[in-house]
Amino acid sequence: MYKMMTPGPTMVAENVRMARSLQVGNPDLDLDFFDFYKETCELYSELLHTKNESLILSGEGILGLEAAIVSLTESGDRVLVLDNGVFGKGFADFVDMYGGKSVLYSTDYKRAIDVAQLRSYLEQDSDFKYATVVHCDTPSGMLNDVSQICPLLKEFGIMTVVDSVSGMFGNPINVDHDQIDILCGGSQKAISAPIGLTLITISEDAKQAMEQRKTKIPAFYSNLMIFKDYYEKKWFPYSMPISDIYGLRQALENLKADPDHLERHHEIAKATREAIVRAGLSLYAENGYSDTVTVFSVPGSVKAQDILTIMKKEHNIMLAGSFDVMAGTVIRIGHMGENCTKENMIETLDALEKTLEELGVTLKEKLEFLM
Ligand SMILES: *Cc1c(COP(=O)(O)O)cnc(C)c1O
Repeated sequence: MYKMMTPGPTMVAENVRMARSLQVGNPDLDLDFFDFYKETCELYSELLHTKNESLILSGEGILGLEAAIVSLTESGDRVLVLDNGVFGKGFADFVDMYGGKSVLYSTDYKRAIDVAQLRSYLEQDSDFKYATVVHCDTPSGMLNDVSQICPLLKEFGIMTVVDSVSGMFGNPINVDHDQIDILCGGSQKAISAPIGLTLITISEDAKQAMEQRKTKIPAFYSNLMIFKDYYEKKWFPYSMPISDIYGLRQALENLKADPDHLERHHEIAKATREAIVRAGLSLYAENGYSDTVTVFSVPGSVKAQDILTIMKKEHNIMLAGSFDVMAGTVIRIGHMGENCTKENMIETLDALEKTLEELGVTLKEKLEFLM
């Protein structure tokens, strides 16, 4: 197996893989499984510092984004879409698909959303049912400060849907303090469980907004209301992927047993960026660096794909390019969850240095990981 230093999926710990291989019962009928599911959701909420209810849905991260939008949006609702990255902009498609009227607030993709500028904008126009915010916009590694953005929107009476799929557990997030109405997470980023589950955390305000809709939610699988009272009724809307949830539970227990995980992400990310800059390479962004992924521009003389190919073929390490407007212009190193260790970064930067040398790039200094 190669070393998978991508910004999701990430590497999976052995105890998570073992948990997924356990003998399973019938998740629809076994009453104990309802407790296991609920306790796993509660553990996740606890790790995100919130009393809000969380749900685990069977489906990859995108399902959570779509479920949040279809469940909140009614025909004609104005929705503010904060756009300083590919995922940021992408929310507009979901909003419009379900009858909403997306209003893009587009800013420089190399900079985090400026909270003072957003405030000035809202002072002119704040007639929005909710806003969408991406915590870490993974294709560019852009981190937005949800601890300021979400309370600001709330001050103007605007609910927030936050995509923190690749932000959470590598960057601080505190759902109650940040007043986030719907938080979307996924199993395969810093949680470091395999791809397949999405996690949704829902505030009382968001639940009320869904209850008070004039029209029905035009969905079943992605309708967040179908989980209402599942525990009391001992009824799931569909058969739960029990093995995936066993794995997720172990991955969450691993996070809980590792209280320094945020600090480690911060130090490793900082050391990675410093090494990149010292070597004379340039970081893609000008500010707003996520501690889960480092994104640097491909030196003019080489092709992104050549870097990726040599890294994989000769060093057995997988890095990622990017996509959409970022395609071919940057390389991404994912140092989140299980990937985020000093040993992995030393090995990765050493291999990257050799790869760039082979491609004729002259570095100012060695790509040395100092921590
Ligand atoms: C990974 C990710 C998702 C989930 O979608 P993928 O299909 O796995 O890319 C959603 N939002 C963000 C910001 C992500 O990084």
